[in-house]
Amino acid sequence: MSEPFESLARAFPEVRLSADAADRVAYARDLWPRHHLAVRAGNVAQHRPAGIVWPTSTEEVARIVRWAHDTETPVVPFGAGSGVCAGVLPHERIVVIDLKRLSRWRSLDTEGRTLDVEAGHMGMPLEENLNRRGLTLGHFPSSILCSTVGGWIAARSAGQCSGKYGKIEDMVLALECVTGTGEVVHLHHRTSGPNLIPLVIGSEGTLAVVTCATLRLHPNPTVRAFAGFSFPSTEHGWDAMRAMFQAGLRPAISRLYDPFDAMLARRGSVEKDRADSAAAPGLGATALRSLLRRPGTINELLEGAFGSKVLGGSLLVLIFEGFDDGPSRDMEQAKAILSRMRGTYAGEGPARQWLQHRYSASYRQAPVFAAGLFSDTMEVAAPWSKLRGLYDGVRRALGEHVFVMAHLSHAYPDGCCIYFSFAGTAAKGDGIAGLEGWDARCELTYDRAWKAAMAAAVDAGGTLAHHHGVGRSKAPRMADELGTGGVSTVRALMRAFDPKGILNPGNLLPRTSSKPTLNDAHPRTVRA
Ligand SMILES: Cc1cc2nc3c(=O)[nH]c(=O)nc-3n(C[C@H](O)[C@H](O)[C@H](O)COP(=O)(O)OP(=O)(O)OC[C@H]3O[C@@H](n4cnc5c(N)ncnc54)[C@H](O)[C@@H]3O)c2cc1C
Repeated sequence: MSEPFESLARAFPEVRLSADAADRVAYARDLWPRHHLAVRAGNVAQHRPAGIVWPTSTEEVARIVRWAHDTETPVVPFGAGSGVCAGVLPHERIVVIDLKRLSRWRSLDTEGRTLDVEAGHMGMPLEENLNRRGLTLGHFPSSILCSTVGGWIAARSAGQCSGKYGKIEDMVLALECVTGTGEVVHLHHRTSGPNLIPLVIGSEGTLAVVTCATLRLHPNPTVRAFAGFSFPSTEHGWDAMRAMFQAGLRPAISRLYDPFDAMLARRGSVEKDRADSAAAPGLGATALRSLLRRPGTINELLEGAFGSKVLGGSLLVLIFEGFDDGPSRDMEQAKAILSRMRGTYAGEGPARQWLQHRYSASYRQAPVFAAGLFSDTMEVAAPWSKLRGLYDGVRRALGEHVFVMAHLSHAYPDGCCIYFSFAGTAAKGDGIAGLEGWDARCELTYDRAWKAAMAAAVDAGGTLAHHHGVGRSKAPRMADELGTGGVSTVRALMRAFDPKGILNPGNLLPRTSSKPTLNDAHPRTVRA
């Protein structure tokens, strides 16, 4: 046990903590796909923390953070570790504060439709318990089975029904949190003067540890209306989505798939992939690896006329939910708009099928990595007027290195999020020889793809992220998005909330003014 952790154990004999080897390995990373490459290469736990502590009350969190402040020990708040941007990347001095034992409902106000819930509560049981009372939070991230309320707030999460209920920031009415000095603060929505809640939402564990949130609830809908629409191109589809949102319609689900993604959706890929994943990677994997070493050719083919004509164009999946005849009336209005904008009605099937598999699609990574490939996602956003530039720029930048497809699943009257999914493998001719170098070469391709895509997103006037957060993976480009004034404001906030810089240091935005390079932030984790 390291010296700081021993002193923590002495200071808090009543709090559950561990410096066991197995626990330190389990908390050595989140689900950043770049880590999976290191794991595949046999480096399972390069980022082991000093230990883990599991507080059960706000008072315990406050005392632990006060101890960390006094001893200048860095700490990292931990929800369920489902983050995909290296928001959790410990080292041997770091103490991980796992919030999952802080998971009580403090109070439910059925009249005002609000819930005070502690930050470590897991997503799915929260929603199921609300449903039993005829209520919903309306927040359905694809990771709802493996993420917490505190993680959603810290990473500024968006759920599948953001079109109707908004992102997590639209659901938080008050926060209780512990700042970097160990002070407990209560932030409430204000009707005058500055509202401080938005400062903590999206701060990714760098300003405060969120311990409790008051969340806005809704009556659980009893009726849904379903439809699918085909469009000649993705752009035709998003023009129609914009028209629908600007006409005041708020579908719970509106997901527009590019032609390749749409073809997978039409074929019911989820079931098929599940069957495929049971098989050991064999000949198919070898063929896929060879194909993905020249991603440019496949990308060009699929993006051109082939994508539209042979694959059947783009697909919009639409679901309205509510009560009585509300959803079907909304759907009729949507149908009128979408048909005017070159949408062809494709029946209810695609939307019903999507709903049935709504949480399956995100868990297909293991077979991809087992086949010697890698996959990841990048979600960016822009006002509608910049969407075309963002879509083309990021797609082109990624497409030079990896196979890329896209869908648009979070739309608003003023803009939209584009979600790129990509898969790649070791590039040819990058100077690392031999089969043992395969993972190192994959890592090189991975880094090149991300570097190019982030530059393209910033150049197009888009954001680096929409709902996965920034973490350490995008921190090196954060200054470009925030601008000089934004950077100094965020750094000033970090000094005010956490004067000694003990809260998740290095995450979101480096505290020093020296601009980190991608290599500082992403040291090589896989050796050739
Ligand atoms: C398969 C899959 C699908 C996903 N789909 C979605 C999706 O649809 N929508 C979406 O928004 N995200 C999605 N994500 C990303 C991820 O689930 C979200 O970022 C989620 O909000 C993280 O929650 P968590 O509890 O796992 O947080 P963690 O991963 O544990 O932490 C995330 C960050 O928040 C900080 N943090 C955690 N808890 C607290 C706290 N109480 N106080 C202060 N800081 C804290 C951590 O330090 C870290 O920086 C997906 C991830 C996976 C693996």
